[in-house]
Amino acid sequence: MTRSESGPSSGGPNAPDPCGPGPCGQCGAVVGARAMFCHACGAVLPPAPLDPFTRLGLERRADLDPARVARQYSGFARAFTGDRFANRDEAQRANARAQLAALDDALATLTDPARRARALKALDESTGAPAPTTP
Ligand SMILES: [Zn+2]
Repeated sequence: MTRSESGPSSGGPNAPDPCGPGPCGQCGAVVGARAMFCHACGAVLPPAPLDPFTRLGLERRADLDPARVARQYSGFARAFTGDRFANRDEAQRANARAQLAALDDALATLTDPARRARALKALDESTGAPAPTTP
């Protein structure tokens, strides 16, 4: 925790994204809002405040196929299970646990029709326009 701001050798201006992905806590690289790992140093990032649809890479709709939700979940969750973070420091392991917990929560929300409907409704109320699903 001795290194501080002004990251190394980044090409462009580090304009902060208004949606607020912070810079990587390990190396200071600017990371995307949906990134789970730092592209520069591979550090596990804390989970971004995403809606459950975005977190699992699914469209915002009421009639999602549960099998597809489960498939998306296991694709993302695979990155955080097992022993692959055993040698990382405690902050990294905590971030990995938080990422997995966020994915678990998204799965639970999207596979429960009542919770999914509530999540959709909350999104409708918070964003007037449809959000982009892919950059
Ligand atoms: Zn990094």
